[in-house]
Amino acid sequence: MKRIAILGSTGSVGVNACRVAEALGGQVRVTALAAHSNADMLASQAAKFGCSRAAVFNPKFKDRLSAQLPEGCKVLSGMEGLLEIVRSDDVDMVLCAIVGTGGLLPVMEAIRAGKEIALASKEVLVMAGAAVMTLVAEYKTKLIPVDSEHSAIFQCLDTLDSCSAERLILTSSGGPFRKASLEEMRRATFQQAVNHPVWSMGQKISIDSATLMNKALEMVEAHFLFHCPEEKIAVLIHPQSVIHSMVEFSDGVLMAQMSVPDMRFPIQYAFTWPERCPGNLRRLDLAALGHLDFEEPDTVRFRSLLLARTAIRQGGTMPCVMNAANEAAFERFKKGEIAFTRILDVIEKTMERHESVKNASFDDIFEADRWARNLAATI
Ligand code: MG
Repeated sequence: MKRIAILGSTGSVGVNACRVAEALGGQVRVTALAAHSNADMLASQAAKFGCSRAAVFNPKFKDRLSAQLPEGCKVLSGMEGLLEIVRSDDVDMVLCAIVGTGGLLPVMEAIRAGKEIALASKEVLVMAGAAVMTLVAEYKTKLIPVDSEHSAIFQCLDTLDSCSAERLILTSSGGPFRKASLEEMRRATFQQAVNHPVWSMGQKISIDSATLMNKALEMVEAHFLFHCPEEKIAVLIHPQSVIHSMVEFSDGVLMAQMSVPDMRFPIQYAFTWPERCPGNLRRLDLAALGHLDFEEPDTVRFRSLLLARTAIRQGGTMPCVMNAANEAAFERFKKGEIAFTRILDVIEKTMERHESVKNASFDDIFEADRWARNLAATI
């Protein structure tokens, strides 16, 4: 039985992960949970699974959590709490589903403790992909993707090495502005942008899907995860989000992974890999769908995809800067400080002013992250 710690258990992926663990019954056991600040939900999840540890990142909510937890569950808080969880003896795998960049430190600690990683937080690889993958090799552990596109590629390749593939084709729904004009996009409100046509997700990733920055981050993620050069990574718009990504081999054969769009599929695969386990999720009815559509992405309205190519080619701290500038621009758009279309301007200008540090250490990465956030908050 695999013993799992879920970081970010009250977010969209975390809640789905809890449902998967419940549905799998005795095959996995959730032994520890961590959340940012939703102490009430965290406490009820920890009670349901009989966890040995629960951590709330924001220490303000520690007492509230403590008051609701059953005896025998250790209460933790802050980053130190997350680090204690990932080091625990009763954890075999850590699912990192923390929004944004907060997952990097706990993932690094989990790798050093020899734990398997199920990674939903793409920012971890975007910020520090080279350093994290080196650490994974050094500690001889595994990092299994939970991001649906990367899970799809992993399932098609049946390995985490893309050397047998000619192209990795990341599919994208195109987001809510697939058919919008630039002018319509300029006037878009937060409410319009946050409304994703297919997936129901958190705010940050929904806005990233509207700018296609989510796909840009996923290109960088694929580059590090599958050791794949930039020119072999393609993006294809596929509005139905039924094909979650594809791999093209040298003989021209395409392999695609399909299911109804539901994050519980990639989560379950990460939990049970290399096995497949029976599941009760809705099955795909292709006849009912009737057709699947595809189109090339428009890199004029969605320069995000070009920014990702620049970031991958320049390497070093540049992907980290792209990610940090995106997070800062998201906050400004959410507050109504900048227009939707300015998000990509802010990222591009921040990247233009950055001189990438090659072979970046973790210190270089955190420094570049801080620098980019500060700059992106003002331009
Ligand atoms: Mg994805």
